[in-house]
Amino acid sequence: MSTTPGTESEEHTALRAAVAALGQRYGRDYLARVAREGRHPDELWADAAKLGYLGVNLPEEYGGGGGGIAELSIVLEELGAAGSPLLMLVVSPAICGTVIARFGTEEQKRTWLPGLADGSRTMAFGITEPDAGSNSHRITTTARREDGGWRLTGRKVFISGVDIADATLIVGRTEDARTGRLKPCLFIVPRDAPGFTRTPIDMEIQAAEKQFELVLDDVRLPADALVGDEDAGLLQLFAGLNPERIMTAAFAIGMGRYALARAVDYARTRQVWKEPIGAHQAVAHPLAQAHIELELARLMMQKAAHLYDSGDDMGAGEAANMAKYAAGEACVRAVDQAVHTLGGNGLTREYGLGALVTASRVARIAPVSREMILNFVSHQTLGLPKSY
Ligand SMILES: Cc1cc2nc3c(=O)[nH]c(=O)nc-3n(C[C@H](O)[C@H](O)[C@H](O)COP(=O)(O)OP(=O)(O)OC[C@H]3O[C@@H](n4cnc5c(N)ncnc54)[C@H](O)[C@@H]3O)c2cc1C
Repeated sequence: MSTTPGTESEEHTALRAAVAALGQRYGRDYLARVAREGRHPDELWADAAKLGYLGVNLPEEYGGGGGGIAELSIVLEELGAAGSPLLMLVVSPAICGTVIARFGTEEQKRTWLPGLADGSRTMAFGITEPDAGSNSHRITTTARREDGGWRLTGRKVFISGVDIADATLIVGRTEDARTGRLKPCLFIVPRDAPGFTRTPIDMEIQAAEKQFELVLDDVRLPADALVGDEDAGLLQLFAGLNPERIMTAAFAIGMGRYALARAVDYARTRQVWKEPIGAHQAVAHPLAQAHIELELARLMMQKAAHLYDSGDDMGAGEAANMAKYAAGEACVRAVDQAVHTLGGNGLTREYGLGALVTASRVARIAPVSREMILNFVSHQTLGLPKSY
C-alpha cells in the first residue's frame, strides 16, 4: 500500500523503507509472543538501536543521529505498520531525550543522551496523577528544597515502562519563593530511589510495556535531578509534550495501517458469494475511507514534526494536537473496520486483530484525550469561550 512518499525527501523515504524491512523481520507475532511471555521486545530494541533508529532525533555530539521528530516518527510509524511498534520510543528519546537535549545541563546531557540514543538506557515520563488526569494544572507532586537537594512527594498513575526504565522524568511542582505559587518542574528520579515505589496496573491491553501507579514518599534527590530552569517549567514541559503528541500520532497511524493491510488482504481473497468480499462496496468503501483518513493524519503529523523541528514551538503545539486527534480517530476507525471485515476471524487469536480494538483506544485517550484537543482548538484556534 502506498505511503505517499511524494511528500517526503529521499532520505525520509529511504529511512521508511529500511525501518519497514526491520519491522517485517519481527512483526505482530513476535510482539504478541513477547507480551504473552511477560518479556520485553529486547531483540527488536537492540536491532533498532544498532541501526541508529532509537536516537535518530538526538544530537550527533551525544551519540544521536542529528535528525528530529520527523525522523523518529517515521521509525515508530513503520515499526507499527509492520505490527511491532516500540511504545518506549514515545517517552524515552522523544520526550525525555528532547527535554534533556534542549534544557539539560552539559553534565545531564553527557550522563543521559548517549545511553538514550544507543538504547542501553531508557527513561519513562510521569505527569498523570489520580486527581489530575486531563487537568495537569492540578498536579500536586511537590518538590521541597532541602540540604542543597530536593525532596519529592506525590502520586502518579498510568505511567508506562517504569519497571524497565533506568529513571522516570517526573513532572512536579516547586514553590515560587516570592509568590508562594506552585510552578511545574521536571525531575529525574532513578528507578531504585528510596521512597519511589511502583505497582503495576492490571490493564486490558496486550502489550509488553506495562502501566504503573507510582508513590513518591519523600524521595531524596540531588540538586542536579532538576532538569532545566525552575522558572521556565511550562515552556520546557511543552518542549517534551509536543513530540509526545506527534509520536502518539505515529503510533496510531502505524497501528491503523497494520490493521487496514490485514483487512485488505482478507477482503481480496475471502469469497462467500461469487466475488471476493472486497468487491462489495459496503466492505470496500469503509476500507478506502480508512486509508484516506490515515493518509490525511500523516500529512498533519508531518506538518507538526516539520514545525517542531524548525523551532516553532507555538505552531507545532496546534499542529501536534490536530495530528494526534486525526491519527487517533483514523486508527480507531481503521481497526474497527478491519475487525469487521474479517467477520468471525476478526476476533480470533490467529488473526490477532481483536486485541487492537483495545490498543487503538489508547490513542484516543492518551496522552491528551480527544475532548481536550477539541477544547484546545475551540479556545486557542477558534477563540471560543471556556466552560471549565
Ligand atoms: C496505555 C496508557 C499509557 C499511558 N502512559 C502514560 C505515561 O507514560 N505517562 C503519563 O504521564 N501518563 C500516561 N497515561 C495517562 C494518560 O495520559 C491519561 O489517561 C490521559 O491524560 C487522560 O487522563 P485520565 O485518564 O485521568 O482521564 P480524565 O481526565 O479523568 O478524563 C476522563 C474523560 O473525561 C473527559 N474530559 C475531562 N475533562 C474534560 C473537559 N474539560 N471537557 C470535555 N471532556 C473532558 C476526557 O476526555 C475523558 O474522556 C497513559 C494512559 C494509558 C491508557
